[in-house]
Amino acid sequence: MKTLTEISELKSLLTTYKKENLTIGFVPTMGFLHQGHLSLVEQCKKACDICVVSIYVNPSQFNEKSDFESYPKNEQNDKSLLEDAKCDVLWIPSQSEIESIPLSLNYNVNDQDQVLEGAFRKGHFKGVLEVVYRLFKAVEPNIAFFGEKDFQQFVLIKTMVSVNKLPLKILSVPTSREEDGLAMSSRNTLLKPEHRKIAPELNAVLQLYSTELKPDLDKAKNQLIKKGFEVEYLIPHQFSKEGKRLFVAARLGNVRLIDNVPCFS
Ligand code: AMP
Repeated sequence: MKTLTEISELKSLLTTYKKENLTIGFVPTMGFLHQGHLSLVEQCKKACDICVVSIYVNPSQFNEKSDFESYPKNEQNDKSLLEDAKCDVLWIPSQSEIESIPLSLNYNVNDQDQVLEGAFRKGHFKGVLEVVYRLFKAVEPNIAFFGEKDFQQFVLIKTMVSVNKLPLKILSVPTSREEDGLAMSSRNTLLKPEHRKIAPELNAVLQLYSTELKPDLDKAKNQLIKKGFEVEYLIPHQFSKEGKRLFVAARLGNVRLIDNVPCFS
C-alpha cells in the first residue's frame, strides 16, 4: 500500500493507473477504521482494479467543536487494517491540501438536506458535500463507495454527483453491525460502559417497529427514553428513488448515535 499526503503525488500516481486503463475505486473516511469501513474497502476491491482510501477528519461538518476535538484517531492501526485489506493507496491530506482544491459546487440537492440529519445538524451537509466534492476532484474515481449507515449522506452525495455532472458512480454498502445489533461507528468507543450496554436498543427498536404496518412511533420513542436515550428523531422517510426507511438519532451521554433500516409500511 502506498501512503501519500500531497495531492500532486496522488494525482501523478493515479494518472499512471488511469493510463493503464485500470478502474479507480474510492472510499472516503474519517479514520478510526472498523469492520464497517473495511466492508466498503472489500466492495471496492471487488468492483475496481485500484482501491483508494482517504482519511480526513473534516472540521467543517462538525456542528460542535467538542465533537470534532474528541473524534477518535489511530493512524497506525488504520494503516495496518488497510494493509491487511489490500488497499492500494491511502491518502491522508492536510486541511490546507484540501482547501487548495477549487470549489465550484452546485449545492442544490432537491431539499433532501432539509430533513432528518439536515434539520438537526445545521451546516453539516454543506460541510460534507464540499469536502466530498473536493475529494472527488482530487481522486477522480470511477466509483465511490458509501455506507447505508449514513443513508441520507449517501442520497445527498448521489444527488450532488448527478446535479454537478461529475463522471463517477456512487454505490452503497449495507450497514455492518456488532453481534448485538449496534451499528458499527468510530464514535461507539466514546460510549461509557453503562451506555454501551444500552446502545443496541436503538437497533432493536428500529427492527421491531419497522415491520409494523402502522408503527406507534410515540411508544417506540418512549421505549428508548425509558432506557436512557435522549431521542432527537425517530421518523420514517422515503427519499425519491429509494425505498422507505425508518431513521433514528439519539444521544447517550455526549455520544450521538444514528441508525436506519428499511421499513415496510
Ligand atoms: P466515517 O469514517 O464515519 O465518515 O465513514 C466513512 C464511510 O464509512 C461512510 O460512507 C460511512 O457511511 C461508512 N460507514 C461507517 N460506519 C459504517 C457501518 N457500520 N457499516 C457500513 N458503512 C459504514
